[in-house]
Amino acid sequence: MVLTKEDLEKKLKLTKEEEAWFSSPSSLPLTISDYYFSLIEDDANDPIRREVVPSILECNDDASIDPLAEVDHSVTPRLIHRYTHRAALLTTDRCFTYCRHCFRRRFTGLNSGAISTQDIDKASNYLKDHKEIKELLLTGGDLFTLPISRLDYLFNSLKSSRPDMILRLCTRAVVTFPEIFTQQLMDVIKKYSYGAPFLLLTHYNHPRELTKESIEAVNKFLSLGIPAFNQTVLLKGVNDNPDTLEELCNSLLYNRIKPYYLFQGDLVTGTTHLRVDIKDGLALEKELRKRLSGLAMPQYTLDLPEGGGKIILTENHFISEDDNFYYFSTPEGDKRRYPKK
Ligand SMILES: *Cc1c(COP(=O)(O)O)cnc(C)c1O
Ligand code: SF4
Repeated sequence: MVLTKEDLEKKLKLTKEEEAWFSSPSSLPLTISDYYFSLIEDDANDPIRREVVPSILECNDDASIDPLAEVDHSVTPRLIHRYTHRAALLTTDRCFTYCRHCFRRRFTGLNSGAISTQDIDKASNYLKDHKEIKELLLTGGDLFTLPISRLDYLFNSLKSSRPDMILRLCTRAVVTFPEIFTQQLMDVIKKYSYGAPFLLLTHYNHPRELTKESIEAVNKFLSLGIPAFNQTVLLKGVNDNPDTLEELCNSLLYNRIKPYYLFQGDLVTGTTHLRVDIKDGLALEKELRKRLSGLAMPQYTLDLPEGGGKIILTENHFISEDDNFYYFSTPEGDKRRYPKK
């Protein structure tokens, strides 16, 4: 594992900004798995490197620590109920590799640790009383950093109180630590693959992350009948160009992972240097729509500040209406009308 400056320097010649982080580090620790570190090339502009090697640029911005107001929406110590029909459970603050763009810096890597049995029980009781919740996101941190026995307890508790509720397994471990998906771990997932399904939610940001090892890990879920969806974060210097995103989305779909969201960066402390302007994001979205099939196309999504919720960003095709017609622009810029009923 890469945890120190010396570990990084075994392979990389650090830039001034990277070097400077170590004299005043931000709260999100440096941790890179050996596997993910092996994907990095010794080039200051390497996109994989930008995702995980810290830089002093993280330390001089004053964005919010909790822009999605998750703390305000916490209903038990680890359960966030922001949307009526789905909720998110923070199973641990640990990850195998910390992403410098992490949107949950208020929590991730800060030593609150694995969810306790009491907090699992509290969440289960709440979910039992709130049947309107149809889907639960198991997130963090990364739930697969939990010991297998704790995962077993968690799944057992949730399945007992809500066998009808879909469980989303939100993990970056298939990208950063594929070797964790041992037969023993997959057996626990298989054991609870009854009733409402598990869904796998991955977090690939760059086509170079779709390695043989990583695809094999995803295939273990697919072979249990668990479908896979991907959430990408739009990141400056990592994937903010149409060629990279086109290749990423096509490879995801080819590997049976549906591109679900392309997230605009949240206004989180320490991530300003990785954010893309929304106008540039919209131009990318428009270009991608020309290049990708409907299935390969993710939804460009903004989680509005101050807990405003998620909205989809896309080019507006509606122009106007009169007494008899609605008017639209075609993707090529022509005009069409459609009658009112
Ligand atoms: C994004 C999010 C969800 C899930 O939203 P979907 O649009 O259904 O993917 C649930 N809870 C919280 C707190 C979220 O931020
Ligand atoms: S894997 Fe997810 S929770 Fe962990 S550091 Fe990355 S973005 Fe944050």
